[in-house]
Amino acid sequence: MSTTLFGIVDDRALGTSMRLIVTRPDGLAAAKMAVDQVVKSIDDAASRFRDDSELSRVNREAGREVRVSPLLAQAIAASLRGARLTDGAVDPTVGSAVKLAGYDRDFASIPPDGSPINLSVTRVRGWQAIQFDEGARVVFVPRGVEIDLGATAKALAADLAASAAHQAVRAGGVLVSLGGDIAVAGDPPFEGWAVQTSEDSNAPINDGEETISIESGGIATSSITVRRWTRGGVDLHHIIDPSTGLPVVGRWRTASVVAASCVDANIASTAAIVMGDSAITWLAANRLPARLVDRDGTVHRVSGWPNS
Ligand code: ADP
Ligand code: MG
Repeated sequence: MSTTLFGIVDDRALGTSMRLIVTRPDGLAAAKMAVDQVVKSIDDAASRFRDDSELSRVNREAGREVRVSPLLAQAIAASLRGARLTDGAVDPTVGSAVKLAGYDRDFASIPPDGSPINLSVTRVRGWQAIQFDEGARVVFVPRGVEIDLGATAKALAADLAASAAHQAVRAGGVLVSLGGDIAVAGDPPFEGWAVQTSEDSNAPINDGEETISIESGGIATSSITVRRWTRGGVDLHHIIDPSTGLPVVGRWRTASVVAASCVDANIASTAAIVMGDSAITWLAANRLPARLVDRDGTVHRVSGWPNS
């Protein structure tokens, strides 16, 4: 038996493409409204590309305590959880390093080539420097530090959007993908949610590609093959090694991870790129199935990721 699915693709959500799939056609419009609302709220709260986002205000007020909205508090908490779980491989204090590497505006507006830029090895300040009282929703970012929630906010948006859409529909199941950060909620289709694994979330759905089936939680993919650019002939990309403050030079070019939520999957996929070789033992210790693609394109399925 196979379940008929109904979907919408929307090309501009959080600087990426959104796909929404439901198992009940009558729920699609309500689900879309719920997703749109979550995406807009996350953009208002956590975008680093908009001067008027709440995150930009927090960064401007570095050196002072700032009270934040419940949603930004959730995003900050998720990023600090990521830092703790990965021993700082995922670290929200990469903000200035990401900008210095040239990723200082919406990716669509970044010129693919450009003149040389000065890069120097400088460890990022580190997540321990952020003081955060989650109950009171008060955050203190030291002067000179800029926080970037890019690695967790989109995944959090996927988790919240899937759950809001499911609540709006109140029946069946929902899948939300935001640029490849995927969360599901409600009853899965009979055969599970079939997710195509790919290094580029814009790759067309194709029968010949590897797919994996999930019933709950989420999947995330981090890759250095898509968001990249060159300056003075040097290849640069968007995932920073906090220990050098520079784009990661490591074993993996793409990591996809399945976890109990999209946020946890994304914490692990970003961390895997940063950790390189040692990601394999970390993923196994945390029982997170992962598909790692090394620099020459060889695929490694680890920690229980099914063999295709
Ligand atoms: P994608 O955006 O393709 O899903 P990720 O989820 O791995 O990829 O997020 C990468 C984004 O996270 C970068 O664009 C940047 O904003 C931010 N970032 C880069 N390096 C780190 C890091 N080591 N820790 C936390 N955030 C990072
Ligand atoms: Mg991601």
